[in-house]
Amino acid sequence: MIVVIKSVRKKIEQFCELLKNFTFMVNGTLDFEKAFVTGGGVSIKEIMPKEMQSKLMPGLFFCGEILDINGYTGGYNITCALVTGHTAGENAAQYAKMINQA
Ligand SMILES: Cc1cc2nc3c(=O)[nH]c(=O)nc-3n(C[C@H](O)[C@H](O)[C@H](O)COP(=O)(O)OP(=O)(O)OC[C@H]3O[C@@H](n4cnc5c(N)ncnc54)[C@H](O)[C@@H]3O)c2cc1C
Repeated sequence: MIVVIKSVRKKIEQFCELLKNFTFMVNGTLDFEKAFVTGGGVSIKEIMPKEMQSKLMPGLFFCGEILDINGYTGGYNITCALVTGHTAGENAAQYAKMINQA
């Protein structure tokens, strides 16, 4: 049992390292007047919108700037970050609970 837990923990640590060291090429910027949100990111076609869970990777949830959604200024981006963050957080917690009970 301890061996299993250790191997799961190692996998989680490796996954965290992968996320924290993830690099990508930035292929351009707009001027400072428009530099308030990133373009591109995870396609919403790959997300279950009621949960913010990936369709490709069960147990992986996305929110905010990482998504390929961007609005002009006026609160759309902050609202998007808050709403998708809340939805992703609630559903990730439920998912974790379900996994732990299985
Ligand atoms: C200058 C400017 C003006 C803006 N004005 C507006 C506006 O008027 N209206 C509007 O709607 N939106 C505006 N936005 C956009 C809005 O602020 C963002 O879309 C929103 O904050 C995104 O939220 P987020 O939680 O996805 O990302 P973020 O707010 O970027 O949060 C990501 C967090 O992750 C942390 N982090 C990064 N890497 C790591 C790591 N390896 N380990 C741990 N933590 C990490 C960062 O420190 C940060 O705290 C503006 C943005 C900028 C830059």
